Amino acid sequence: MNCIDLHIHTTASDGTDPPRAAVEKAASLGLAAVSITDHDSVSGVPEAMRAGAELGVEVVPGIEVSSDYRDNNVHILGYFIDPAAPELRPVLDWVKTERDERNEKIAAMFERDGFDISLAQLREEYPDSVLGRPHFCEHLMRKGYISSVKEGFEKFLGEGKPYYLPKRRISIAKAVETIVAAGGVPVLAHPMQYHYPEPELIELIETAKALGIRALEAYYSEFSAEQTAWLLHAAEKYGMGVSGGSDYHGTRKTHISMGTGCGNLAIPYSGLEELRKLRRKTSPV
Ligand code: AMP
Ligand code: FE
Ligand code: FE
Ligand code: ZN
Repeated sequence: MNCIDLHIHTTASDGTDPPRAAVEKAASLGLAAVSITDHDSVSGVPEAMRAGAELGVEVVPGIEVSSDYRDNNVHILGYFIDPAAPELRPVLDWVKTERDERNEKIAAMFERDGFDISLAQLREEYPDSVLGRPHFCEHLMRKGYISSVKEGFEKFLGEGKPYYLPKRRISIAKAVETIVAAGGVPVLAHPMQYHYPEPELIELIETAKALGIRALEAYYSEFSAEQTAWLLHAAEKYGMGVSGGSDYHGTRKTHISMGTGCGNLAIPYSGLEELRKLRRKTSPV
């Protein structure tokens, strides 16, 4: 069977494979198509598409936008997006500025408390990446303050911990509008990962549908067969499509393999054909 993986992170955000290496990996696994869906960034897309053309892997340009829904961080995937679309720039620049300011404040808090950590050094360590808490954790690990990223989140950077700072996010409506304006198909990422009780999950899906989100990510590394079945049923009920991907992050999430997830995934190429049909139905707002 021709399989695909429509949820992959690279060094353009918090994955560990550079875009080209991610596509090489997809080729070696025999995947027919992948989508590069970095957090709030399309900077890895051009390199990935060039590699895909060379290696015979279809690379769908994508993004995963962090958005605010009822004070929760809800992720919206955008497929077939034009990475050069002018509508994308101001939004991604705003997100980047927010992140840069937050990183500066986090670094200052560590420095104030006498930690030997340097944002300039962090930027050198990850020149192409959108820096975030995982990078801080790895930096702290290299400096010997902690022995795992998990420990870094538990002691320092997890929500409610002393070096945690919230991040302002764009609204879910703005995320959808931006993806559509850039020619993309908006999809609700990993709907079960927000841990809503069923009635609230249904409200999220109904809101997503009303805002123009076209599909639900029903196939996902961390979903049980029951969760996938529930989402397939919901998609049908609400007249939405389905998509699927592993959320591969390279060695930053060692339990997730490209293509097969935690061993549970085998997404057929027809899934991409369905998304392509939804694209034709999308009109810019
Ligand atoms: P940030 O965008 O800087 O807020 O960092 C978010 C990233 O941190 C996401 O990619 C998560 O996968 C990762 N993350 C959040 N909480 C944890 C945790 N407790 N352990 C490991 N990674 C985490
Ligand atoms: Fe991530
Ligand atoms: Fe996500
Ligand atoms: Zn992701």
